[in-house]
Amino acid sequence: METTKLVYRSTLIREYGWSMSKIEEYLTPAKIVKNPHYSKMSSYLYDLLEAEKIKSAISVSPKIQTVKNWRIIIEQKYKDKFAELYRDTIEYMFNLNRYAKYSSCSKRNKEEIYGIKDELLAKLYLAKKIDHVERHYQTIAPLVCYRCDGNGFINEDVYAKCPKCNGTGIFREKQILYFACFFIEVEENVYSFHQPEDLLTYKIVYQDTVLREFDIQGEKPLSVGMQKNKEMKETIKYFIQIS
Ligand SMILES: [Zn+2]
Repeated sequence: METTKLVYRSTLIREYGWSMSKIEEYLTPAKIVKNPHYSKMSSYLYDLLEAEKIKSAISVSPKIQTVKNWRIIIEQKYKDKFAELYRDTIEYMFNLNRYAKYSSCSKRNKEEIYGIKDELLAKLYLAKKIDHVERHYQTIAPLVCYRCDGNGFINEDVYAKCPKCNGTGIFREKQILYFACFFIEVEENVYSFHQPEDLLTYKIVYQDTVLREFDIQGEKPLSVGMQKNKEMKETIKYFIQIS
């Protein structure tokens, strides 16, 4: 039986020929732990065996090889099973959308997830597959000026207006952000997705005139583990392409 050996990201780079960008593109951490030296930071551990397998696959023909493999796997998995593909697409999107708010989600992964989300929701909305849309908002608290700590002046002895905030102590006023909240029902589960209104390239018609405030979301639980990060994204992309 093969035993799992977990190694740090730095070890992959130092001893196994990986680069930071290749790790971000192809690998998903097997485990996230507190950094032993800086408790506020996380360290990422990777399955060495898995990393070595992927490395040999991508070195044959980078990218094309893995994309092609995923396509074949997904096509076979959902052959004549469109309802299952649709259900998994929504479930996966919901998980990825949550994962994008995790501190362990890389910037590149987050951008990719939001790109897929934009495309999927636009497609579903324009095909009238969204059950319900509500208008929601978020209140972003004012930002206290970092230069003067909110005092409005920079020297207590000689009164001098803070140039950064012009003496107001506030660096950025309170903001209200508006979102379209899409509700999708699949097999008795209701999923919701927020999209910033000003980023939408199509016009939303709200059925509901009630404006609701919603919380800034932190790290909420996932129903599908992030070792399926790549598979989830490829499944959604496949759905977008064929539907
Ligand atoms: Zn200031």
